[in-house]
Amino acid sequence: MSDATPPAPPTDTPSGTHCARCEKRLTEGDRVTANDRVFCRSCYETLRFELQRAVAAMSENINYPMAALGAVLGGTAGALVWWGFTVLTKIGFGLLAVGIGFLVGHGAARFAGGKRSRGLQALSVAVGVLSFLVAAYLVNMTFINEILAARGAPGRVPFPPRSLIMFYRVLEANFGIMKLVFLAIVIYEAWIIPRPLKLTVPS
Ligand SMILES: [Zn+2]
Repeated sequence: MSDATPPAPPTDTPSGTHCARCEKRLTEGDRVTANDRVFCRSCYETLRFELQRAVAAMSENINYPMAALGAVLGGTAGALVWWGFTVLTKIGFGLLAVGIGFLVGHGAARFAGGKRSRGLQALSVAVGVLSFLVAAYLVNMTFINEILAARGAPGRVPFPPRSLIMFYRVLEANFGIMKLVFLAIVIYEAWIIPRPLKLTVPS
C-alpha cells in the first residue's frame, strides 16, 4: 500500500485579488464581485454609473415620429399576414396575433434607434390594438362579402369602413372570448418589447 500523498493542490491565489479594471490589489473591505469579476469599490462605482447612464440614454431623445412609422409598418404587416392567413384557412390563428404585437413592438423600438421607454410602450399598445381591430375587420369584411356575393345581394362591406359605427358593427358580429384573448396577447407583446430596462445591481 502506497502512502504517497497526492500532490497538494496548488495554492493558487484566487483570481479575485486584483481589481479587474485598475489591477489594484484588493482587500477584504475593498472588493465588489459583479458578473464573476471583482473590482475595487471605486472602479465598481464608476462602472455602475456608466451602466446607469447607458440604460438611461436608451429612454432619452426618442424620435417618436419614426417610432410611430415603425409601429404602423409592423402593425400593417402583421394585420395583412393575419388577414391573408385567416381568409385562406378559415381559421383565426391566435399565434399570428402574437405576430402583430411582436412586429409593432419591434417596429417602434427599432425605428426609434433601439430605444425603450414608457412612451414607446404606450405607442406600441395603441398601434397594436388598432392593427388588431383593423385585421379583425378585414377578416369579417371578407367573409361577409363572400356571403353577400353567394346570395347575389348588392352592396359590399367596404374598406376603409365608411364610419366608426360601421367599423364597430362589423367587428361586433363575432367578437368573442378568443378575440379578447388574441387582443390581450397583442397588448402584452406590444407592451413588453419596448419596456425600459431595469437595472438591478448590488450596491
Ligand atoms: Zn479598480
